[in-house]
Amino acid sequence: MRANYHTHSKWCHHGTGEIEDFLESAVNAGLEEIAITEHVPHKDNLDYNRMWWEDFIPFDQSLEKAIQKYRQKIKIIKGFECEYYPEEIETYKMFQKEYGYELLMLGQHRAGKNREFDIFAPKGQKELQAYADAVCEGLSTGLFRFLAHPDVALLDYNENKWDPVCEKTMRQIYQCCEKYSIPVEINANGIRGQRRYPDKNAFILSKEYDLQYLINSDAHFPEAVYDEAVQEAERFAKELDLPLLEKL
Ligand SMILES: [Zn+2]
Ligand SMILES: [Zn+2]
Repeated sequence: MRANYHTHSKWCHHGTGEIEDFLESAVNAGLEEIAITEHVPHKDNLDYNRMWWEDFIPFDQSLEKAIQKYRQKIKIIKGFECEYYPEEIETYKMFQKEYGYELLMLGQHRAGKNREFDIFAPKGQKELQAYADAVCEGLSTGLFRFLAHPDVALLDYNENKWDPVCEKTMRQIYQCCEKYSIPVEINANGIRGQRRYPDKNAFILSKEYDLQYLINSDAHFPEAVYDEAVQEAERFAKELDLPLLEKL
């Protein structure tokens, strides 16, 4: 791996480590680029598990300081992991324009009109459909550079068994990625947490589409930037012969 575009720190409230520790870890692993991509803050702080709105300025200052310190050693990109919530799009654009958060990725952790479906809760067909619809609408905005953990919604659906609904969901998502030329992520944090994703059946199916793939650590602690889980993701990609994008 030459670059990692998916990194969280203590600022997201479910990770640990200072930003500088992640940069140090990336430099030690020999990476050429790293994007720091907290879960984007929302004014209403409705999703508890993310950076709080009032933490943004101190976070941004801390990130700028870390960038100054490490900029000679590694290319550092400011980014955010975002859900597609139509009412938040203007705020995402504001972070891009006014604060330089150039790399926005789509990481949809909730779906439904009122964000009522939690991606980590048990799900049925209705929830999967809502997830695929949100992802496709989100990608159609042209704001997002890649799709994080495309198959995350399969987690806790149908006792984690593959079925025609999984196939339909993933086909809808891959069609959108293909249409808008959006790379799909092979997420090492799913491997690290022994979760369902990356789902082998989902990625075998993805080969029917013209897609590019990105391995990301989705690190939530500094040592995870390039760890055994990332190496497992590399083996996964090799085994399935998925064409990897080394850098964005
Ligand atoms: Zn996270
Ligand atoms: Zn993430």
